[in-house]
Amino acid sequence: MDHLRHEGLGMTSQRTRNRLIQRLREEGIKNEQVLEVMASIPRHLFLDEALAIRAYEDTALPIGYGQTISQPYIVARMTELLLDRAKSLRRVLEVGTGSGYQTAILAGLVEQLYSVERVEPLLEKARRRLAELGLRNVEYKLSNGGFGWPDRGPYTAILAAAAPAIVPDELKRQLAPNGVMVIPVGSEQQYLTLLVRRQDSDLFDVEKLEAVRFVPLLSGVVR
Ligand code: SAH
Repeated sequence: MDHLRHEGLGMTSQRTRNRLIQRLREEGIKNEQVLEVMASIPRHLFLDEALAIRAYEDTALPIGYGQTISQPYIVARMTELLLDRAKSLRRVLEVGTGSGYQTAILAGLVEQLYSVERVEPLLEKARRRLAELGLRNVEYKLSNGGFGWPDRGPYTAILAAAAPAIVPDELKRQLAPNGVMVIPVGSEQQYLTLLVRRQDSDLFDVEKLEAVRFVPLLSGVVR
């Protein structure tokens, strides 16, 4: 019993979070800003109580509605790609708020964040969590993020946490010159994909990175 109680306390401690950060380093995450922010955001707050005990395992976990909170490694990797490659993080669009965990990490690193989610109960929970954490540079929208958020664009960076079969044209259109998009792409097999919009043109440089597994980008809104 004593053992369990200690585990229960330990789960939320800074030490437990630091162990996760150590593991991310071993897996190749190098950006100190990313690691620092991830050390400061308590991932267990983004999970239901029954799963909170597993919050610092490096794995995706269910958040309801058939969706998952992203694996910490993939959150770190995508965030690192944005930070290393984007020239500006002034206006950033996130597609797929989910639990709000990736949102919270991004909010600590970018100037203004716009986050779009298609499942209303998830969006509302995420909104509350980020407000409780005092993160105020985020605007939320309930809609199909495959269409982006045209009113707020163009964006200096876009990060998508759900995978389309091909990159939606709307998202490409809303990327500013020199803007960077990190997005999982594919249906059978998905690959993390990096697009950089060229200065003064509609052309994009595209890099196909590692194989990944995300939930699919779906259409429509769930209320
Ligand atoms: N980074 C989030 C990942 C959540 S999973 C986290 O760590 O919690 C991906 C999310 O994308 C799900 O919440 C899903 O509902 C959402 N999603 C799927 N298709 C979408 C779409 N077309 N527009 C907006 N959100 C979408």
